[in-house]
Amino acid sequence: MKMHKFQPESLMMSYGYRPEWSEGAIKCPIFQTSTFVFKTAEEGKAFFEVAYGLREQGEKEKLGLIYSRLNNPDLEILENRLTLWDGAEDCAVFESGMSAITTAMFEFLKPGDLLLHSGPIYGGTGHFITHVLSKFGISAVEFTPGMNFEEVVELVEKTGKGANLGMVFIESPANPTNALFDISMCKRLADHFATPEHQPMVAVDNTYMGPLWQHPLKHGADLVLYSATKYIGGHSDVIAGACLGSSVLMQRVKALRTFLGNMAGPWTGWLLLRSLETLKIRMQKQAKNAQKVALWLQSHPKIERVLYLGLLTPEDGDEFLLYKKQCSSPGAMISFEVRGGEAEAFAFLNNLHLVKLAVSLGSTESLAQHPASMTHAGMDPEEKLKLGINPNLVRLSVGVEHAKDLIYDLGQALEKVGSTNPERAFL
Ligand SMILES: *Cc1c(COP(=O)(O)O)cnc(C)c1O
Repeated sequence: MKMHKFQPESLMMSYGYRPEWSEGAIKCPIFQTSTFVFKTAEEGKAFFEVAYGLREQGEKEKLGLIYSRLNNPDLEILENRLTLWDGAEDCAVFESGMSAITTAMFEFLKPGDLLLHSGPIYGGTGHFITHVLSKFGISAVEFTPGMNFEEVVELVEKTGKGANLGMVFIESPANPTNALFDISMCKRLADHFATPEHQPMVAVDNTYMGPLWQHPLKHGADLVLYSATKYIGGHSDVIAGACLGSSVLMQRVKALRTFLGNMAGPWTGWLLLRSLETLKIRMQKQAKNAQKVALWLQSHPKIERVLYLGLLTPEDGDEFLLYKKQCSSPGAMISFEVRGGEAEAFAFLNNLHLVKLAVSLGSTESLAQHPASMTHAGMDPEEKLKLGINPNLVRLSVGVEHAKDLIYDLGQALEKVGSTNPERAFL
């Protein structure tokens, strides 16, 4: 008989955990422990042989629990559950999204290498590339939305370091503009610059879309990265990150994680296990709300432009086709320009009541912020304008509230733009 294949959302409550391990507890407890007792010295020896790669792991042999910097049940179960959404062989979770990104970059790049990345890029990632990787002799070059294969090849060749391309790193859709990058084109770029000695990695920061709406491994990526602080955590109460890929690559990432010591703790693991149970219903509701909000914004006289994947039409040509190929939903991130400049954008933000004025995204509550002066404040002013991060741009992360209430709140805040003095109010 053919085994029934369960959908990820059906497995989020139970996969990888057995109640008999914990006195019948239906939920995985928090294993708040630093170390684990070995049954015998021989067992401890066997665990270390596998953990330190002193011998091949036996086919049926599982890595035993040793010490919570190496592994912990809350992390292992969480990692196993996260693999289901992306169809990955393995996963490593971290205490932040930045930890996941920086560990992957350190593991797969070496002095002399070139990193090709999309722009605009998350501020923290950009800072790390510019100020930290550079100290280790790793240089970087940025490509922007709309550049085709030949143009990016030329850009890389101009650096004179094509043969040293170590990684293609992208964020798609880009934050905050929702511009798309083609993952399969990145794979072709990596193959184009591959040498018999080395194959450049393709890494995708999938925070904006994942793990529900975009599965980069299926489009040729080697690594998928998340700030699990966002949709995966989803409640604005935990900072965490994840990296997913093949077993071989993840073994390397996990080894470096062991020695950097930046794995997530058991409490973080437990919180994320709890969050994953509602991941799909949260994200679906958020996307449904976002569709309604985006359509409403588009017809508002005080709004100049709305950047939302759900508003793309066949007339947008290649961008529409790429969206259809790569994403299964337009997501819940909307950016829009308020007519006017920074003053008008600020007046709008200062008058929101239900929607909170805060950075971050993907949470149950709706959040709005001003990219030019907040998340992207550190960016070169010219670069900002080139990429469309204008002074009147607002980024909105849509939550699970009632769509009518969100529209009411956005509407009353827009009414105050250009009329009264802004006044802070809290619900
Ligand atoms: C938030 C975020 C990060 C950083 O994640 P932390 O969990 O804050 O460390 C990286 N990339 C993107 C796209 C993000 O939104």
